[in-house]
Amino acid sequence: MKIENEEALDDFIICHKCQTLHHEIPLRDGAMAYCSACGTMMYRYDSHLIDRGLALSITALIFFFVANFFPIVKIEILGHAQFITIPKTFLSLFEHGFYIVGIFCSFLIFIFPLGVFLLYLWIFTLLKLQRGERLTRRLLVLLSRSIPWSMSDIFLLSILVSLVKLIGYAQIEIGTAFWALVLFVAVDLYITKMIRISEIWMLHKRLFFPQGRGC
Ligand SMILES: [Zn+2]
Repeated sequence: MKIENEEALDDFIICHKCQTLHHEIPLRDGAMAYCSACGTMMYRYDSHLIDRGLALSITALIFFFVANFFPIVKIEILGHAQFITIPKTFLSLFEHGFYIVGIFCSFLIFIFPLGVFLLYLWIFTLLKLQRGERLTRRLLVLLSRSIPWSMSDIFLLSILVSLVKLIGYAQIEIGTAFWALVLFVAVDLYITKMIRISEIWMLHKRLFFPQGRGC
């Protein structure tokens, strides 16, 4: 297959599993395209992608707000009760002098998860309004670089492990924020699985260059 210039690459899509290059073809609503070499699902066409993306981003941000500003657990040891919130966990690391770990934790469990969903919201809003072609492109690049650093799911697992270890030593009461965090992680996993960055790129191209790239 001969590629004449870099712009021509926009008409192709690569299989993320076997790296075979395919010509991108238009699909009907709800249809999926599979790799001819390995059979992996490569992309789909969903006419409601923007609305679904907006709804999921707003839902995730609401769960994120509840998960961060309400207590995750109440731990009671020898009559001394303590409410734990997510910001409190990394702030206590700073208070005890663990600055590097504190910075890492605040980025991985607070700044990146929040940033990723603010980026999703910003991108889908721009696509809905059909504005900011260049800005949307930059935000999409930033989004694909930020997603691997969002680690709320790992944080949730670590909370579960800690709670299991504490059972027997302390009285534990699960707070509202814990369930909000579970729902946030569920939306996070769902959006990562169901809305691929490549599909947003294709949507961007369809909206801003309906007749193909002329520049
Ligand atoms: Zn393949």
